[in-house]
Amino acid sequence: ANENVFALFEAAAAAHRERDFLIVEGRPLLSYDAMLDETARAAAWLRSIGVAQGDRALVQVHKSPAAVILYLACLRAGVTFIPLNTAYQAGELAYFLGDAEPALLVASPGLPAETVVFDGARAVLTGALDAAPWAGFGGALATVEARRDEPAAILYTSGTTGRSKGAVLTHGNLSSNVRTLSETWRWQDDDVLLHALPIFHAHGLFVALHLAVCNASPVLFHERFDAAAVIRDLPRASVFMGVPTFYTRLLTEPAFEAALVSNIRLFISGSAPLLDATFEAFEQRTGHRILERYGMTEALMVTSNPYDGPRIAGSVGPALPGIAVRVVAEGGKPAAAGEPGVLEIKGPNLFAGYWRNPEKTAQDHTPDGWFISGDVATMDEGGVVRIVGRAKDLIISGGYNVYPKEIELAIDALDGVAESAVIGVPHPDFGEGVVAVVARAPGRELDPAAISDALATELAAFKRPKRIIIVDELPRNAMGKVQKVELRGLHKDSFT
Ligand code: ATP
Ligand code: MG
Repeated sequence: ANENVFALFEAAAAAHRERDFLIVEGRPLLSYDAMLDETARAAAWLRSIGVAQGDRALVQVHKSPAAVILYLACLRAGVTFIPLNTAYQAGELAYFLGDAEPALLVASPGLPAETVVFDGARAVLTGALDAAPWAGFGGALATVEARRDEPAAILYTSGTTGRSKGAVLTHGNLSSNVRTLSETWRWQDDDVLLHALPIFHAHGLFVALHLAVCNASPVLFHERFDAAAVIRDLPRASVFMGVPTFYTRLLTEPAFEAALVSNIRLFISGSAPLLDATFEAFEQRTGHRILERYGMTEALMVTSNPYDGPRIAGSVGPALPGIAVRVVAEGGKPAAAGEPGVLEIKGPNLFAGYWRNPEKTAQDHTPDGWFISGDVATMDEGGVVRIVGRAKDLIISGGYNVYPKEIELAIDALDGVAESAVIGVPHPDFGEGVVAVVARAPGRELDPAAISDALATELAAFKRPKRIIIVDELPRNAMGKVQKVELRGLHKDSFT
């Protein structure tokens, strides 16, 4: 059988041709039948401009129906799809272009990719389907045969801890993950997905979009997250996926209330930690317990809170079926229950390696094939995982390990605190000194000395922040990830 992941989508669409695929602002734009047509035509157009099976397409485009078709057409044509964050500027694109060496560069009008110097084929993609490069193009291409170990896409990681790395994801990675999620989250034949995530990242592309397409489910398609627009569309949806900031923003809207979401079966969160306070406020407001899951570009979805059974705030649940995780303590021994260590992953979800970086691929795998995630986690006796933070964010102060998450949880519990980020910066005596950047709750004042006093009875002296900085909000990227590298840069001279 053809192991091209698009073959899964094609089978679902062929069985439900009449169903709506993309619905934009309440209006059906494209049926699944039309999806099959458009992608066949776009795939043929790719061939006509000289893009062969196995070639790479580097794509920096706004989220639009045409962008979705382009992605699916690349899968159909066996062209490795490489989406780029729309925030990247021309200077940053030079790196991605040199690294990816694509045969084709696709840009939206006005995005930096339109301006970079490039000697291969180039296309400018407008968002409307009737103005897409393949509009009016006559051909149709049948889905190409692909093996499970062939690359389907290269996704660059978010660059939270350093330079983005290209993760090579195979057809087998994508199909195994979407199948597992369909089962674990009990995808229903009549589900309707509200999609407001970016599609240059695994969350919006491989989790949200794939789950809908794999089941031929309608997608309420939002080109960006806009709380008012999401609130208008929620009554028509049964599943919503978001990063934690989507949930905190919805909660600041007085119009966001339980009656709006009576049709919703499932709220899912991931890409960054969901604060306990958000989980609890959301349940109070709507009666829904958000299902938090954990994943990463290199391994797609790894763990998930259960669909039935307890969804525990602050935990990301056990490993998904067919995927193994373990926690390795310092010195390489298995961590005891509750003891923090680095999370390692094994399964059909694991990427084929870092693009053109075999050294890093080797470094991040154990000799027996486990992927070293770089996330610090704990696991209880039942296999339930909690993400403690990034190994790179671990602070070593005066020879002691300080786990930022522990300090953040203690600070977040204080009155008037919205959230916090704890970082280590150079310190002349201790090596690293602990700094807390604390965001106040709206309309609240915070006093660093009072926070310090409150922590004195909560935490050992070596863990307590030596400096506390009050801010209105923490710096985040488009996926809602707190930018600790930026914070460390800003506060690097705190003790020198
Ligand atoms: P880079 O690897 O370039 O530094 P990144 O790790 O942020 O960037 P992604 O692959 O987009 O790039 O993000 C994966 C990471 O996001 C995970 O390793 C983990 O740290 C974090 N993450 C994802 N889901 C959760 C979650 N539910 N709770 C806590 N952290 C999460
Ligand atoms: Mg990472």
